[in-house]
Amino acid sequence: MTAHFSKPGLFHPAERIAAVGVSEILAITGEAQARRRAGRPMIILGAGEPDFDTPDNIKEAAIRAIRAGATKYTILDGSPELKAAVREKFARENGLKYGLHEITCSSGAKQVLANAMMATLNPGDEVILPAPFWTSYADIVAICGGVPVTPHCTDADGFKLTPQQLEKSLTRKTRWLVLNSPSNPTGAAYTAQELRSLAAVLLRHPQVWILSDDIYEHIVYDGSFATMAAVEPWLRERILTVNGVSKAYAMTGWRIGYGAGPAALIQAMAVVQSQFTSCPSSVSQGAAIEALMGPQDIIAQRRETFRDRRDLVVTALNAIPGVTCPTPHGAFYAFASCAGVLGRKTAEGRRLDTDTDFCRYLMEAVDVAVVPGSCFGLAPYFRISYATSHADLSEACARIARACQALS
Ligand code: PLP
Repeated sequence: MTAHFSKPGLFHPAERIAAVGVSEILAITGEAQARRRAGRPMIILGAGEPDFDTPDNIKEAAIRAIRAGATKYTILDGSPELKAAVREKFARENGLKYGLHEITCSSGAKQVLANAMMATLNPGDEVILPAPFWTSYADIVAICGGVPVTPHCTDADGFKLTPQQLEKSLTRKTRWLVLNSPSNPTGAAYTAQELRSLAAVLLRHPQVWILSDDIYEHIVYDGSFATMAAVEPWLRERILTVNGVSKAYAMTGWRIGYGAGPAALIQAMAVVQSQFTSCPSSVSQGAAIEALMGPQDIIAQRRETFRDRRDLVVTALNAIPGVTCPTPHGAFYAFASCAGVLGRKTAEGRRLDTDTDFCRYLMEAVDVAVVPGSCFGLAPYFRISYATSHADLSEACARIARACQALS
């Protein structure tokens, strides 16, 4: 999360981004890609996007939108048609009823999150990010002048925040709790009962708002998906539920995300968006309407493919002495501990002291790129994205096993 600006000189970044910089994950992926271009047989397991293509019916809808002249600015935070599709999605899949004035659409879920933080944080306001967390949360909060508070959620608790940890993390300055279920990077998914226990604490602290990032909603393998606004209606006036089409419909490049929450918050977020990006792409909005309203069977098919890959990765990693990998219940990430290999030495005599050392070693010794847990606020772990082919995943796990065996 540290910025690297090429040379000292005339350019000085603003203080608000000096401590942030380009995402570590993108930096690692960039280095791995450079190695691949240089001829190395890299297997890159860093990407946070499905390897599948966007379904044809969605592409066709975008082409129709272009032909029908949907090539102009739309209403700031989404066309009425897209907002109606989002309203229908929340009612159909989550049992949540929202009016169009309580819905916002942006260029990706990331922009919804950024709009929310920009619209609400004053300098020094605290945002609870249960660690391990998606790295962008901390950076977005920092850019907006907030302070991330990162209670560590352990493997023993399924990488989930407990009510006791939540209680301890709350202060008078707490503005938001961010919940991400299923989680990037652990795949942990909260049950309705677990959310209810957190809600019991939140009901006693009316200054705290809840941002529920449900972007991996459709990739849940065991049990059913639960979201706070549906579980605890008494909190509804303090919840922003965020979602998008990127992961469920393999539409990362189309850049459409959406959120639903109290009208006053949605309006404040529209003010931010109106000055930064005006509106999301009109063509992508046409595609997203089809994604949300068209046939949904592809979601279950792809989930089963992800489940096979998850099983492959978890089994292969747990067979490696020194590595342990809890079974993730959702998303397309495995978050494995490398504690058992730390302290060992490479063939060149270099000692691996941290998860970053371990990941660097995997990149250099066996051409596998994975992301250190420390990037997500919890060490010593590494994250594998299994949104890639069965063949690449088997080969990558075999290489990791070889690399671990070579340590002394
Ligand atoms: N939230 C989480 C937890 C993510 O992992 C990501 C993307 O990796 C996003 C939000 C952003 O999604 P979008 O592509 O809609 O901006």
